[in-house]
Amino acid sequence: MQDSEREHREESNIESEYEQLARGIFGNGNIYPPVQTHFTTESRNCGGCNTEIHYGRYLTCFNASWHPKCLICRACNQPIYDNEFSIFGNYPYHSSCYKDYNYLKCDVCEGNVITNYAGHVGYMTRPFFMQKICTSHIHDGTPICFSCERMESRERGGYSDLYDGRKLCLECKDSAIMDTKECQSLYIEIQKFYENLHMNLDLKIPLLLVERQELIKVVERINNGNNDIFEPRGICLFSEKVTINTITRGPEFETGNRASSIRTKPRKLTRRPCGVTAILIVFGLPRLLTGSIIAHEMMHAWLHSDEGYHGLSDEVEEGICQFMAHMWLEAKRPHYESKLWVFFKFKIEQNTIPAYGDGFRAARQAVYKYGLHQTLQHIRTTGNFPF
Ligand SMILES: [Zn+2]
Ligand SMILES: [Zn+2]
Ligand SMILES: [Zn+2]
Ligand SMILES: [Zn+2]
Ligand SMILES: [Zn+2]
Repeated sequence: MQDSEREHREESNIESEYEQLARGIFGNGNIYPPVQTHFTTESRNCGGCNTEIHYGRYLTCFNASWHPKCLICRACNQPIYDNEFSIFGNYPYHSSCYKDYNYLKCDVCEGNVITNYAGHVGYMTRPFFMQKICTSHIHDGTPICFSCERMESRERGGYSDLYDGRKLCLECKDSAIMDTKECQSLYIEIQKFYENLHMNLDLKIPLLLVERQELIKVVERINNGNNDIFEPRGICLFSEKVTINTITRGPEFETGNRASSIRTKPRKLTRRPCGVTAILIVFGLPRLLTGSIIAHEMMHAWLHSDEGYHGLSDEVEEGICQFMAHMWLEAKRPHYESKLWVFFKFKIEQNTIPAYGDGFRAARQAVYKYGLHQTLQHIRTTGNFPF
């Protein structure tokens, strides 16, 4: 008797909880997808932990079934046990977290993205740094850092204008390399990196920092007027004779963060016996990014210095150069947590340009399996990555 009474009571508790869940608050009913609570006698897997949901209560949400404990609030990372929750931007939130406007404020205009969403202005999350912004900022001229791709907050501001179409955030500007002289210590560091790998290079190949327009001009000249691929950031030159305007003094930032007074000087260059003329890098990028571009261009120089590597496909050549850039970044792991460092690696890993992205991923796979030297040797004999 007692036993069945207790069973009955438990069941009615579940039922009242069930009723509450079924009533779950969905913000404005029109906007949020329906969430339902069910009991099951069939087994199914949970969308959160992917283990089986046995008999009992579960939720359906985003076309999946969930243990109530596995439905996690995107704002505070805690399970949503309570019967009130909200869906926003395809993620569930505790209603209390959802109402926390700080969490859902636009990172650019500090406007409330919930209000904007309801007003059909639109809301999106930008990749990697997860900035939450009104979609209108994509087209309203909001500055984006050339190096880390973060959008400038109107409140905090502080982006520097390089006056060549590029803007730099404070963090990237902090370590930005601005002139040829400043770049030499970094160049020596990367020369040592190659030396430690027993990959010898002509140490006298000039490394020059140049303005954005100068680099674009050089790249277009080499490609016969075409540069339809992407924004160049560096190049390894093989021309017999060339004159390059190199930056002897970087910009100074005055009030209003306007860059002024860049000084350049023409430098006449001739091809060196190794076959390489110079390495050019665009000025104004953070030290880590500048270094990874140097490591990439130095690999072109290294490959070019040995005839055995001439005539490689773009995927193999750019892939192995990207691998060296990534390897150098790996070796530069900062002692503190650096999102920029992770971001620069991420950009190499996730590159969508086939020669660079697929090339890098194929190179990495080959080096993991066979080591760098065996991979290079294989490329030298077959023109391909070992698989
Ligand atoms: Zn689960
Ligand atoms: Zn929460
Ligand atoms: Zn906004
Ligand atoms: Zn930046
Ligand atoms: Zn390249």
